[in-house]
Amino acid sequence: MEVMSPYAKPADIEKFLYKLVLQLLIFSQGSHKLLEPHLVTIGGKLRNGANLNDLIGDLHSVSKTLLHISKTKQDVKPETQTYPAAQDDYLLNRLDELLAESEVPLRFQQHTTSLRQRIRERDGEQSYRKVIDSAFSLLLNVRDFTVSEQSGVDAFLSDLSNQLIEIEQQAEIASEANRLSIDSRDSLNHSIQRQVHDFQDTMRSVDELSSVKSKTGEHLDRLLLQLLEHKQQEDARQQEAQLKIETMALKLMELESETESLRTKLKIEHDRALGDPLTGLPNRAAYNNRAEMEQNRWRRYRSPLSLVIWDIDYFKRINDTYGHKAGDKTLTLVGQLLANNCRETDFVARYGGEEFVMLMPNTSALQALEVAEHLRKMIQGCGFNSNGEQIDLTLSCGISAFDNDDTHDDVFVRADKALYHSKRLGRNRCTVYAAEIDN
Ligand code: GH3
Ligand code: MG
Ligand code: MG
Repeated sequence: MEVMSPYAKPADIEKFLYKLVLQLLIFSQGSHKLLEPHLVTIGGKLRNGANLNDLIGDLHSVSKTLLHISKTKQDVKPETQTYPAAQDDYLLNRLDELLAESEVPLRFQQHTTSLRQRIRERDGEQSYRKVIDSAFSLLLNVRDFTVSEQSGVDAFLSDLSNQLIEIEQQAEIASEANRLSIDSRDSLNHSIQRQVHDFQDTMRSVDELSSVKSKTGEHLDRLLLQLLEHKQQEDARQQEAQLKIETMALKLMELESETESLRTKLKIEHDRALGDPLTGLPNRAAYNNRAEMEQNRWRRYRSPLSLVIWDIDYFKRINDTYGHKAGDKTLTLVGQLLANNCRETDFVARYGGEEFVMLMPNTSALQALEVAEHLRKMIQGCGFNSNGEQIDLTLSCGISAFDNDDTHDDVFVRADKALYHSKRLGRNRCTVYAAEIDN
């Protein structure tokens, strides 16, 4: 055994005391029944890696017991007393037993076996001391190894890698959930970076492995918690957004169908307001709109614009002779013939009863007369019949062109006068208004 220097370091003193306790323990085992329970306790604690601080209470108890034993003058067991020469043997046997009982880690097993071999082969004083010292240093190494964090570090590292895998998975899920939310993902990235920096700072600032272990655990837990919270928030946000989109899409669809039905209604109303249901031609109101528009255009461009008013001759007779239905049929036919045999830009409407109007842009009165004559002749010779019976169908018209500051009403009045002139002259004719007509 080495001699302690008076200036020895506290760590060396502790090591020395530790050795001494071990020696005393081995030495005292089996020496007195009052000591035995304490020795068993201390032995157990040492095997579990206890240090001197952990043993202070037990050592106090040993000290008290020793005091008690010396006061009661109880002697040590007769075996050890009667065989003082065998004390070394006893000690070596106890050492051997202790080594056999100890759960020696694999890396020390070879050392232990050779030591036990040497114990059994003990020869001489020198060898005995060496064996004792070797045994103590082995036990100390075993104890240091057991006490060390090594096994904890392994577990800790595997735990760490598991947690990292989990974090990676969570991060993947979070980033998936975050596809639509770039801002949010950026803030998550910042947060993770901050956590990792904190973690690195802590790694630098702590010395002890156990502290690193617990601190790392805390960091990883916080990181995981944050990722989970973030994922939950993102999920909720996405669900909410999805719901909003769905509601909006639904509203949009409703709106579209409402608009569509409104459009249909409006078209119906419009057609009803401006169309003639019998002939399918624009009606009088539509004529007024169009006349207003053409009048304005004429005022701006002064390009000739004529109006023709048509009236079926003796229509009452057709009604009376062939029936109202035949009358209606006549109206439809005349409407179609007029509309289908003029220019696209001409506007034909049923003004009312058996009267039709025709607005002809870019057409002078004489040009309009030409067209009107063609139409008149065409209708006269169309061979209209009712149930095979030939019906005389003729039309008269009056024509007038826009002039000076005319309104469409002014032109209408003149064209109407020309129409009556045609009637007066015997019908089935076309007349362009002229001032003489008035007389
Ligand atoms: P004129 O040659 O002088 O124009 O003689 P007319 O018989 O054509 O003129 P009148 O004004 O005397 O008669 C017009 C007739 O047109 C009277 C009316 O019953 C008929 N009528 C008006 N609207 C309609 C209609 O929508 N359907 C039918 N079937 N007849 C109609
Ligand atoms: Mg009439
Ligand atoms: Mg008529």
